[in-house]
Amino acid sequence: MSTPVLETENLVKIYGRGPSRFDALKGLTFEIHRGESVAIVGKSGSGKSTLMHLLALLDQPTNGVVALDGQPVTQMKPKRVSQLRNATFGFVFQQFFLNPTQTVLENVTLPLKISGMGKAERTRRGMEVLEQLEMQDKAKNKATDLSGGQKQRACIARALVNRPSVLFADEPTGNLDTATSETVEDILFNLHRDYGITLVVVTHDEDLAAKCQRRLIMQDGVIVAEEAGPPASASPDEPAQTESAQTSAERTEPAQTERVRRRRSILPFGKGKGNQA
Ligand code: ADP
Ligand code: MG
Repeated sequence: MSTPVLETENLVKIYGRGPSRFDALKGLTFEIHRGESVAIVGKSGSGKSTLMHLLALLDQPTNGVVALDGQPVTQMKPKRVSQLRNATFGFVFQQFFLNPTQTVLENVTLPLKISGMGKAERTRRGMEVLEQLEMQDKAKNKATDLSGGQKQRACIARALVNRPSVLFADEPTGNLDTATSETVEDILFNLHRDYGITLVVVTHDEDLAAKCQRRLIMQDGVIVAEEAGPPASASPDEPAQTESAQTSAERTEPAQTERVRRRRSILPFGKGKGNQA
């Protein structure tokens, strides 16, 4: 199989120290392949956003490694990391983080401005992506004038303007009503289907998670189960789980430990010091 676009080994994140120490991630090892759609699911506080921030190279682990296209990020200079992040990733968050004083087009083209692109080309690329999301008529509106669904579409446009190969979405439908959520979900999955974009979606929305090819289920900083294919409740004419039909108990700890053992190490210095989950 090809090199995973993202892989982690023994990923540990500890916030605080002493009596206020909190172990948010307790040694996670898994892979995400190019073109996959993966949902990270679990209750609030289980570590989903923490994990996404580490995968997206927005934060650094306390221990363990994230590798991008087989390259351990810990071995790269910070400048290289931010270059790679800007060139490879797009981000969509639950809170829209749009600048209310700027127009939709200015918000959407901000990543291009940061990367130093000239105004004419920025406008061309910004309008192209707004058209793709049927938002071109809102280009000159101030971001505050948009509905929730339109704001999220503007955010998706901004995430796509750099033509990323991996799109991270953290609770992208968390602030939207059901109908608008469906529109946003359709946009995300169409991007996945039509452009082969890798989708990493953090959600506790079961419908959204069910649309992903794979689900990593988190609990208290650990991946306790992994599901592939449509969930058990999906329609019978869809293919069943692509992995062997294990019970969820079998699929949890032993399966993960086994997978960890089989994988080649991506650590430059052998096994990490983090506590193995
Ligand atoms: P989720 O996205 O699944 O709701 P998070 O990854 O946001 O979970 O948080 C996991 C746990 O880590 C929570 O208990 C949260 O309070 C804690 N946490 C998150 N960020 C910080 C931080 N910067 N400092 C201290 N604790 C944090
Ligand atoms: Mg979160």
